Amino acid sequence: MNSQIKQIHQQLVSKQISCTELVQEKLNLLKENTYSTVNSLLDKMALELAAKVDAKIASGKEIGVLEGIPFGIKDVYMLQGTFTTASSNMLKNYKSAYTATAIQKLLDAGAIPLVKENCDSFGHGSSSENTIFGAVKNAINPELVAGGSSGGSAVNVAKDYTVFSIGGDTGGSIRQPAGYNNIYGLKPTYGRISRFGLMAYASSTDCVGPLAKSIEDIRIVLNVMSGKDIKDQTTINSEEITEESILSNNTIKTVGYFKSFIENEAIDTKVKADFLASIEKIKATGIEVKELDFFKSDILVSTYYTLAMAETASNLSRLDGTNYGNRIEGENLKDTYSITRSENFSEETKRRIVGGNQVLSQGFSDEIYLKGLSLRDQISENFKKDFEEVDIILSPVTPGSPPKIGDSLKDPLAMYLSDAYTVGFSLGQLPTLTVPQGTVTGLQITAAKNNEELVLKFANFLKDTI
Ligand code: GLN
Repeated sequence: MNSQIKQIHQQLVSKQISCTELVQEKLNLLKENTYSTVNSLLDKMALELAAKVDAKIASGKEIGVLEGIPFGIKDVYMLQGTFTTASSNMLKNYKSAYTATAIQKLLDAGAIPLVKENCDSFGHGSSSENTIFGAVKNAINPELVAGGSSGGSAVNVAKDYTVFSIGGDTGGSIRQPAGYNNIYGLKPTYGRISRFGLMAYASSTDCVGPLAKSIEDIRIVLNVMSGKDIKDQTTINSEEITEESILSNNTIKTVGYFKSFIENEAIDTKVKADFLASIEKIKATGIEVKELDFFKSDILVSTYYTLAMAETASNLSRLDGTNYGNRIEGENLKDTYSITRSENFSEETKRRIVGGNQVLSQGFSDEIYLKGLSLRDQISENFKKDFEEVDIILSPVTPGSPPKIGDSLKDPLAMYLSDAYTVGFSLGQLPTLTVPQGTVTGLQITAAKNNEELVLKFANFLKDTI
């Protein structure tokens, strides 16, 4: 199967390239790049690790498949001793005191971290423009946004600056930039990968996941990062997914899609036509395709933003300049808090904190927050019923193509609505993968909880089908 990781592994083992050369080449590309993907380079660490891999190969020892493979990390993950800024003024000088579990597992497997990647501040955004490091540019057309919030990660992979990158997905932040830059991006089942050491945005939907150029690479990285973690009580046990298990499609008989996503004024006519053409090709292979009823996308978007804002207001309350954050002294403690937070959070982050505190405030929480929770239950119930009828749900990733840089900042509501097709699956905590096929921003493949294997299997099938 096509795999960048395996190909590089072979080149390292056969001494066609040295790990130091490989890492140096990628570091140079990252340093010179004009897409604003880099918050900080980890050159010293990366070159030291590469030298160790080279020494191991030279001494004739075997190396694991991820050993010496260069990767990128969205700048919201702790990696001890490195800056973790969340692309914010608030944490621009913050150095991680420890390492995130998911990242540690990759380090243990020998992968080499090159870069902390630009993203929307605290994951707040769909365009990677909400950052103090400058808007990330789209890999295909630099006048357009890269998508977000894991925009830097998607562009680094798309441009081959990293072999894979680790993004974070709360409401679409891996899948949407993957779609905007024509690569693969997986949001696993909630809890499959530990969130320990990922800066919290909305804890009930935050997921760790890989972006890569092949299904096989997604599988390899997913397997390494998965597993129960004593440091994150929401984690679950999962089985390793083998290469063979995702090769043949002998189990997928029915595919569904949501009518409400397609028969919607917001969808671009070309995205709609391309999506329906993909459906026809799937039908032609003998798979049964069912139209499914679902919530309207504006309900999904408002439910998601209600809950995500409430959770982020609560999670970010610790950033007041005392234990964390650039402290700006005021006349008294209260002043210090308020100046520190007003000056250091971005416009978009403040909008969410204000919105979230409103959602949670006395007198409003019953009407807004509890209603959000109840809608979320109904959404999950709907998914449960759907997966009694179909094996896979297919949808476009976004209703339209990536906007021009600058446009989303002028119209936050339009930006929120562009998340219409990704947020529902986040609320349902389902595994869902963007594949760079079918529409201009790809297709999203979703299965029932813990069924990543089926998602990857269907992706392999689609690769040869449409
Ligand atoms: N665009 C969505 C938001 O701003 C999703 C972001 C994410 O998944 N981190 O909330």
